Amino acid sequence: MQGLMMNTQLTITTIMQHAQSNNPGVEIVSVTGDNPRHRTTYRQAFDRAGQLANALVKLGVGRGERVATLAWNDYRHFEAYYGVSCSGMVLHTINPRLFPEQISYIINHAEDQWLLIDPMFWPLAEQQLAQCKTLKGFIILTDSAHMPETTLDNVHCYEDLIAGEEADFDWPDIEEGDACALCYTSGTTGNPKGVLYSHRSTVLHAMAECLPDAMGLSGADAILPVVPMFHVNAWGIPYAAPMVGAKLVFPGPKMGDGETLQDLIESEGVTLAAGVPTVWLGLLNYLRESGKRVDCLERTVVGGSACPVAIMQAFKNEYQVETLHAWGMTEMSPIGTMNVPMPKHADLSEAAYWAIKAKQGRAVYGVEMKIVDDDNNELPHDGKAFGALKVRGPWVCSSYYERPDATEHDAEGWFSTGDVCTIDPDGYMQITDRTKDVIKSGGEWISSIELENIAMGHPDVAEAAVIGVAHPKWDERPLLIVVRKEGSDPDKQALLDYFDGKVADWWKPNDVAFVEEIPHTATGKIQKLALRKQFMAYQLPE
Ligand code: AMP
Repeated sequence: MQGLMMNTQLTITTIMQHAQSNNPGVEIVSVTGDNPRHRTTYRQAFDRAGQLANALVKLGVGRGERVATLAWNDYRHFEAYYGVSCSGMVLHTINPRLFPEQISYIINHAEDQWLLIDPMFWPLAEQQLAQCKTLKGFIILTDSAHMPETTLDNVHCYEDLIAGEEADFDWPDIEEGDACALCYTSGTTGNPKGVLYSHRSTVLHAMAECLPDAMGLSGADAILPVVPMFHVNAWGIPYAAPMVGAKLVFPGPKMGDGETLQDLIESEGVTLAAGVPTVWLGLLNYLRESGKRVDCLERTVVGGSACPVAIMQAFKNEYQVETLHAWGMTEMSPIGTMNVPMPKHADLSEAAYWAIKAKQGRAVYGVEMKIVDDDNNELPHDGKAFGALKVRGPWVCSSYYERPDATEHDAEGWFSTGDVCTIDPDGYMQITDRTKDVIKSGGEWISSIELENIAMGHPDVAEAAVIGVAHPKWDERPLLIVVRKEGSDPDKQALLDYFDGKVADWWKPNDVAFVEEIPHTATGKIQKLALRKQFMAYQLPE
């Protein structure tokens, strides 16, 4: 028997229309290259999204065709999120931190038609992207006063282009399964792969994100997404905020600047900020040096890589800010888990409480998780067994865009995340490694991340990475790679002794290599592949 309820399609257009009716006056504040503090409202932003949609149709962009962006977090990028997707086109957000060759590759692979580009990235377009074969032209996200000079044809100024257009646009009926956005993974190996989000997956993800034990968003919030709009849609915040009527505060190109972040937080009354650990480390350093405060900030969402407990403790103890540790992936829109303590944790000892907070958290409703061994046998959720993490859910990708060669999905529809973790009986997941990085010693697994976390606690270590190197008897053994803190000169044995009592003896690294620098990917993750190549012929001591 079928239910007798309306089959309203879950589209991003419904978010826009809801906000237009219910939260038209809520503010969007941005830092941009041409304005240190720009103010607008949802009403104005959605009107301009309509103007952009009219302009794109006149430029000949059709339903389902891709419009790319190379842009910071600001109101013009927000307008493109809605103007492009709600008119049935697909918004392809490009990460400017990828190598230029990778950017050309993904523009060609996605067959982008037009590129909306921040003036800051314009030299890249002139030197390299103009050759991309499907690109018909560029729209520079600025006004006429700030347009760069160019010899290229088909270059428009965003403000001039939309100025003559009507705000009214006949938003089409879109089926919820239709694509709305495309984002490529940063890819430590091979070419980046495209994740093609649907309207339905994006709406469901945004709703789940608002839940109290997820980000707990509401109209009382002012949200500062320091996580970029070019990397997994700024964790879905540009969709979730208008859904609940929260104020948006965009840092533009100043994402890594502690001074700007503190100023935005205090002057705009930011209650929630989201970003990767390095951003928060930068802000904490700035706060300590300047003596300034972030008194209105209630919580930070931290993900993208493991959040060191020291960051969470500093936020809580020095600034009364709660940290929500989160885990996700481009392939998961991105949210998989969020760490919010349960009522029973209220009476835990300090140490036990922080041990829970260090975990990546529990699955948000909608996400199913399991861990498996090398033979795909399911492992227990006992907080001890660690295996490869697989996920399923309505906002997890079902395949990659135009990549039939990809092997991440199994016959039952589970997606292999490439992460290795434990899951405890309450469902708290803790990442111990990437599948490719786990060290296989005599058939047993050693967590490189756990060894790195311990090494990072040593006072003479600025950064640490652990990789497996070939060993005649054990197959692989851990090698600790260390960047020394300036002015310190620890000896190898002292660093190795530091692991005593902290891990099982057989987990202890066999040796230490000192380097000047550890290589990172475009999204700030350690490039283990490059390290493994560098140390391929490394001879461990007997
Ligand atoms: P990306 O698709 O670039 O966002 O990268 C996703 C990957 O980042 C995951 O598969 C994890 O390996 C890593 N990651 C994300 N969040 C966390 C976290 N809280 N702790 C540890 N690793 C994380």
